This record gives sequence, C-alpha cells and structure tokens, in this order.
Amino acid sequence: MARVAIVTGGTRGIGRAICERLKADGFTVVANYAGNDAAANQLKADTDVACYKWDVGDHEATLDGCTRVAREVGPIDVVVNNAGITRDGTLHRMSYDDWHEVMRINLGGCFNMAKACFPGMRERGWGRIVNIGSINGQAGQYGQVNYAAAKSGIHGFTKALAQEGAKFGVTVNAIAPGYIDTDMVAAVPLPVLEKIVAKIPVGRLGHASEIARGVAFLCSEDAGFVTGSTMSINGGQHMY
Ligand code: NDP
Repeated sequence: MARVAIVTGGTRGIGRAICERLKADGFTVVANYAGNDAAANQLKADTDVACYKWDVGDHEATLDGCTRVAREVGPIDVVVNNAGITRDGTLHRMSYDDWHEVMRINLGGCFNMAKACFPGMRERGWGRIVNIGSINGQAGQYGQVNYAAAKSGIHGFTKALAQEGAKFGVTVNAIAPGYIDTDMVAAVPLPVLEKIVAKIPVGRLGHASEIARGVAFLCSEDAGFVTGSTMSINGGQHMY
C-alpha cells in the first residue's frame, strides 16, 4: 500500500510543488493549510490531493488534525514541515506578536507535527520527517530576527530529533532553500529583490520544483542512511 505523506502549507508555493512531486513518486499525499480555501480547492481540483485545514502552530488542533488524517487516509509515514510565515521588521519596530507568531508557526509547527506523528513512525519502524528551514536561518537576514531565529531553530530541532529517530528507522532532515519564486518572495520589494538576485551565483531565483526534488529524495527508501543533515538548495548564494 502507498505510504501516506502530509505536507504542511501544502496548498501553495513550495508546499504545492512538494505535494505534486510526492504524489508522482507514489505517495498518498495530504496537504494541510491555514485559511486560503481557494488555493486548497485549486490543488484538490488539479491533483486530487486531500486538503485539511488547521493552524500548525496550535498544538491541540495539530494533534486532532493528524488523528483525523490517520483515521480517514491512513497512518502518516512522511511529514514535510513546510508551513511558514514572515512578519519582517527591524528589531526596534518588531512587536512581541510579530516575534511570537513566527516562532509559534514556523518552529512550533514542527514540534506539534512531530508530537502527532513521530510516535506512530517509531512504532512502525519507518518514517521520514523533512523540515523546511531557510538560507536566512543559516546566514541571518536584516529585518528578520524572528524568522532567522525560528528557521535556525529548525536546523537544531532536526539534528536533535534525528538522534532520537535513528534506531527506529525514522530519518529527520532539513532543507534550507535560498530565494524561490513564490508568493512569499513576491512580497519582497522589487529593488530589494534585485539586490538579492545579484548575489545568487546561479543568477536567478529558484523554482519550487527544485526544492521538491530534494524533499522527494529525502523521503525515498534510497535516503535511509541520510539523517540529521541539511540540504542547502540556494543557487550557491550561501555555502554552508
Ligand atoms: P507561501 O507563503 O507561498 O505558502 C505558505 C503555505 O503555508 C500556504 O499553504 C499557507 O496556507 C501555509 N501556512 C501558513 N501559515 C500556516 C499555519 N499556521 N498552519 C498551516 N499552514 C500554514 O510560502 P512558500 O512556499 O514561499 O514557503 C514555504 C516554506 O519555505 C516556508 O516555511 C518558508 O519559510 C520556506 N522558505 C521559502 C523561501 C522562499 O524563497 N519562498 C526561502 C526559504 C524558505 P494558506 O494558503 O492557507 O495561507
């Protein structure tokens, strides 16, 4: 039977590309999302991927949501923690809410999904968790102390959980994307974006499908010896 993979924030951008790719690789794919029903309906219409709405930053909602997925679709063998938001601003302008919301969703979401799905993976002796970090968690970024801290935290979370999962056949890895042409990057003012692209040796933004390919490898049987690693996919912008 096909393994069940859930992609948080799977209805748009990088998440949607990951859903499409994992489905093509033979997984039964479920997408989680926060509130944009139109994007979810579009994904469902285009791909027949089932979509489940809850806030991954909400612990109880995540436990309930994953229980529902397991009951209605099957035990969850693969988790891709992709959901993420930005609330940018320099420290002196950043509110506590901006700090907390990014930590709650971007980093807290990984904890909540792991709490919901890791025990079952461990019991069944197989699992894949892929956490989407960021180049800005590796290198830092002006105006993003919240986002850089949360993404950097994801890389530490990955390495710690990988040590817990290894003897149970559960691998835990991260991908650190560089700048990818999604809605999130479309929100960056054009003059800032032009300066960013000028610093990418490959000379362009990345495509969501290029991140999805990395995720697909980490979720495959072939990647059983890869755990606790971070795959940087960034056009050479930051060599870590
Ligand atoms: P988008 O903004 O295009 O899409 C974000 C997705 O996450 C949407 O499906 C959204 O759902 C969902 N989401 C947001 N908040 C929540 C929540 N609380 N609970 C559940 N789902 C939620 O993002 P990208 O595709 O650009 O980014 C995907 C990931 O990659 C993020 O973690 C981002 O930080 C990371 N990343 C992106 C880079 C880029 O250049 N684009 C670079 C490096 C990292 P809805 O549609 O309902 O709002």
